[in-house]
Amino acid sequence: MNTWQTRRDGLVKWPGYGRGPAYGERVNNAYDVAVVGAGIVGLGHAAAAHARGLRTVVVERSPRARGATVRGSGHVGTTLQVDAHRALAARTRELFLSYAPRARFWLARRGTLAVATADDELEVLRGAGTGRILSGREVTDLAPVAGAIGGALYRDDMQLNPREMAPAFAAWLAAEGVDFRWRTTALGADPGSLATSRGDIRADNIVFCVGVDLESLWPDLAARHGVRRRATDMMLATGVGLEFPVITGSTMLRHEVFRETPAHADLLSRFERERPDIIDLGVGQTYAEVSGLGVLIGAAHRDEDDAWPFQEEVAFDVLSREARRLFGQKRLDVRQRWRAVAAAVPGDTLRARAGDGIHVSAAGGDSAMSMGLALGETVLADLYGP
Ligand SMILES: Cc1cc2nc3c(=O)[nH]c(=O)nc-3n(C[C@H](O)[C@H](O)[C@H](O)COP(=O)(O)OP(=O)(O)OC[C@H]3O[C@@H](n4cnc5c(N)ncnc54)[C@H](O)[C@@H]3O)c2cc1C
Repeated sequence: MNTWQTRRDGLVKWPGYGRGPAYGERVNNAYDVAVVGAGIVGLGHAAAAHARGLRTVVVERSPRARGATVRGSGHVGTTLQVDAHRALAARTRELFLSYAPRARFWLARRGTLAVATADDELEVLRGAGTGRILSGREVTDLAPVAGAIGGALYRDDMQLNPREMAPAFAAWLAAEGVDFRWRTTALGADPGSLATSRGDIRADNIVFCVGVDLESLWPDLAARHGVRRRATDMMLATGVGLEFPVITGSTMLRHEVFRETPAHADLLSRFERERPDIIDLGVGQTYAEVSGLGVLIGAAHRDEDDAWPFQEEVAFDVLSREARRLFGQKRLDVRQRWRAVAAAVPGDTLRARAGDGIHVSAAGGDSAMSMGLALGETVLADLYGP
């Protein structure tokens, strides 16, 4: 029986959870699949392996997932991708729907609201040809936003609390029989053997799902695939009463479904002319409110090879100002700020072979969590057949 409890800060507590094996403790050391990393990509691979009845272990250096996955907005966008990515996102949606009730994490199925405050934004939404186009009045009936001239509603999109989902998912997988080695760092792999800071683990297939650490663990492979570091700044403020994750004009600059529209060039040149700060700081305004937590406000993005840990206040000034403007508020009650350094992966997903039985998987991009579960399923199908 699941006995985890959600704490007020959105984290999940599980008895014995986050504990690495004690010195001398006997642990099973032979598996079909070893997964390195307990972010959404690693959990997706572990869940897919376990669903096939494979003996599976997850090796995670932290006491619980604390990489890009828990630092995100929790917006499961299944309509912001195109082509193969959209298929991955659609399958990830099905998988989240199937896992959420079993792992008991919150998953809202209300959709995403795109708010247009300028004609070119509305044109981009129309050009994307997905979602229901809304009038300004319909938008303000759905969300407490100011200045909307129209918008779009993407009904299939979903929302979760990333701080709750990843620990709850891991706890459920552990209860189902997947072994987790927390506080254990993977050092490298040879065919059939994963070297870790707590000894070797034997596994037929080893999959590295280490996000940005790909760059230091598999430097040649990362360089070959053009993987970079992306520093993203976000903040949490007291809720404003949003029932839907909200995206805006600056988000439309970033997502592939909007980038492919004819009006995108007009949108980009207006931002370059009128809002160079948004372009320079890589701001894509998104808002996702989680009951009991607040509104997750994103995000300023910078691709840097040396992602410096110190956050520029100017990025938070822009995020605060834009949020106040959108919600027509004089003050924004900011409660947390943080930085995530994640992998920026050209093409947003990466599947590569690093040796016999050694594989690397990554999802990197603004909606990469929305593809992570299906990526795991795809890799396992490559290894063990459909
Ligand atoms: C701020 C932000 C907001 C985002 N918002 C969204 C969103 O709303 N919707 C969406 O779809 N996507 C979003 N994304 C993208 C998405 O969250 C990430 O791309 C995705 O979570 C990456 O998952 P991951 O498992 O690859 O990486 P991570 O979550 O970083 O997991 C990698 C794990 O590997 C572990 N690890 C690394 N090296 C080792 C080692 N040697 N040994 C053991 N363990 C190791 C790390 O500790 C970490 O836990 C966002 C990204 C960011 C940065």
